[in-house]
Amino acid sequence: VIELGTPQREVITTCAYCGVGCQFKAEMRGDELVRMTPYKHGKANRGHSCVKGRFAYGYASHSDRILSPMIRDSINDPWKEVSWAEAMEFAANRMKGIIDTHGRHSVGVITSSRCTNEETYLVQKLTRAVFRNNNTDTCARVCHSPTGYGLGQTFGTSAGTQDFDSVEHADVIMVIGANPHSGHPVFASRMKKRLRKGAKLIVIDPRRTETVQGAHYKAAHHLALTPGTNVAVVSALAHVIVTEGLFDEDFIRNRCDWDEFQAYAEFISQPQFSPEAVQLLTGVKAEEVRGAARLYAKGGNGAIYYGLGVTEHSQGSTTVIGIANLAMLTGNVGRPGVGVNPLRGQNNVQGSCDMGSFPHELPGYRHVKGEAVRDIYREVWGVEIDNEPGLRIPNMLDAAVEGTFKGLYCQGEDILQSDPDTKHVAAGLAAMDCVIVHDLFLNETANYAHVFFPGSTFLEKDGTFTNAERRINRVRKVMAPRQGYADWEVTQMFANAMGAEWGYTHPAQIMEEIALTTPSFAGVTYEKLETMGSIQWPCNEKSPEGTPLMHVDGFVRGKGRFINTEYVATDERTGPRFPLLLTTGRILSQYNVGAQTRRTANVVWHDQDILEIHPHDAEQRGIKEGDWVKLASRSGETALRATITDRVNPGVVYTTFHHPDTQANVVTTDFSDWATNCPEYKVTAVQVALSNGP
Ligand code: SF4
Repeated sequence: VIELGTPQREVITTCAYCGVGCQFKAEMRGDELVRMTPYKHGKANRGHSCVKGRFAYGYASHSDRILSPMIRDSINDPWKEVSWAEAMEFAANRMKGIIDTHGRHSVGVITSSRCTNEETYLVQKLTRAVFRNNNTDTCARVCHSPTGYGLGQTFGTSAGTQDFDSVEHADVIMVIGANPHSGHPVFASRMKKRLRKGAKLIVIDPRRTETVQGAHYKAAHHLALTPGTNVAVVSALAHVIVTEGLFDEDFIRNRCDWDEFQAYAEFISQPQFSPEAVQLLTGVKAEEVRGAARLYAKGGNGAIYYGLGVTEHSQGSTTVIGIANLAMLTGNVGRPGVGVNPLRGQNNVQGSCDMGSFPHELPGYRHVKGEAVRDIYREVWGVEIDNEPGLRIPNMLDAAVEGTFKGLYCQGEDILQSDPDTKHVAAGLAAMDCVIVHDLFLNETANYAHVFFPGSTFLEKDGTFTNAERRINRVRKVMAPRQGYADWEVTQMFANAMGAEWGYTHPAQIMEEIALTTPSFAGVTYEKLETMGSIQWPCNEKSPEGTPLMHVDGFVRGKGRFINTEYVATDERTGPRFPLLLTTGRILSQYNVGAQTRRTANVVWHDQDILEIHPHDAEQRGIKEGDWVKLASRSGETALRATITDRVNPGVVYTTFHHPDTQANVVTTDFSDWATNCPEYKVTAVQVALSNGP
């Protein structure tokens, strides 16, 4: 007799929401998940969790799940349920037909930072070894691609320098463009614990977020900058550190290129970078910038944590470089309590980037132009890899509109809802001859699809996720895939239908291939993951147990590199028609476009997107608390309810993007980061006016 609610077995696995990478015991009764209990030996969470990881798993059994493959000739036809074999044959024939007619560069893939490392590795292998091009991209394009560029250029690799434990040694914590309270709650608790013990906090963010002030701490400096002026503020901090002689000369002489430092010091000392000069532009008082710079430089161990408020700008990459400059100037790299730490939004953004999902990089951040790297894959895969970078997501869509890109395999990513300029995305998708959507639900992108491969949840597969501290955590199958196959098996079936002869029988074999071809993963095995619980890469002969702290004795690139950070104003300008600046973010209980959280049966998840507006701006427009307002930009408009608050400054409004009814990305611009094309979600010139609702 089974008592209701009594688990019969438990499986340790990893949360599939944010980049903290909390581990849980999935407690099962038969095939039913009874509860998710935070795992006390999880190295990222140590028995803690947030509301999403603990309770928001109901989507796995939601009736919206699509459980049968589907095909249709045209996007105007109804879907037809078919067998997996029929779906594979249909999809492969279409893709092969496109390649025969338009050439091998006319197709590509987009993968997701929600997928496992092994799935992501297979998807880029499909692109490079089967499609025979480099048209592979990931949703990290729209979040942390500037981290890849900025940290790669300055330090030599795209990864956070520290483990989460490191925050317990920080004396000064600088949070830039992030609200860990909502976005990374379990890491936020560890950070707040340190703040309660006396560490000082600097927050650079347009909003007075929950992170700025807690019950037992208050930011020493909140630099509430005008959206879009990150580079000016970060450069002003560096200006103060250099001109007041607060830099760490020993560190710079030993660890960085001294000549480059001198050139940079001359550049950043120019008067246009002084806090007084940029005050009007940024809206931040000069004395706040000076105070923050002195505190960070001389307050002991200084640790920087940053998020999408840094990267999702036209100068996202420049800001990341500016942050790295700050850490090198002050010697805050290479020991506990310091460092530069991107807070990754999705569970496997780090892993997705590590696994070669970018069109210019093979796994391990090695450029496709590298002859020696291509030799490795020629030997292991038995094919020649293109030596030119492929198309990024926006380039694929542009090429589709122009008629040269015809086929897309889109795994785990609802680009119509999550990418900027919705109309352009729709036009690109509509122009393709074959769109394959591989997902849990019939998402918005699927409206333009010809093939639908039903996806599996994290509960239904084995694999690994890599969190924001480079920690590779095991994902373990808790129940059989409801639609028959784990996502890595679906990709393998599709590759084989296209003519490949892959024969992986378990993700552990895929990890063996990753280790064989990727130096930073050379020592990673499933056996070691079982023994150690998790491993932080690099893990190889030099560091067989993994690497909690990076750049301890030297930077990955050798000498740390200072790069000048010139502020260039975004092309998105306010004016009489659009006088306010919109910035966006998320709340604790929702996750991105809400595909999972909104499908969990609990009132917690049934909130709305709200527009925050300052009392002064609301009064000017006759807006009262709870009124419906129209939010309009040069790109489009949507309707939201208003909340009146001084969390935002006058001239700035803020909303979340969790609900498809709101479609905040109808409003956002199509400007993007100069180096990586990461969209400028965080700055849009808008008008707000009273309305009658949607
Ligand atoms: Fe999951 Fe992130 Fe919450 Fe941890 S903090 S339970 S990883 S959503």
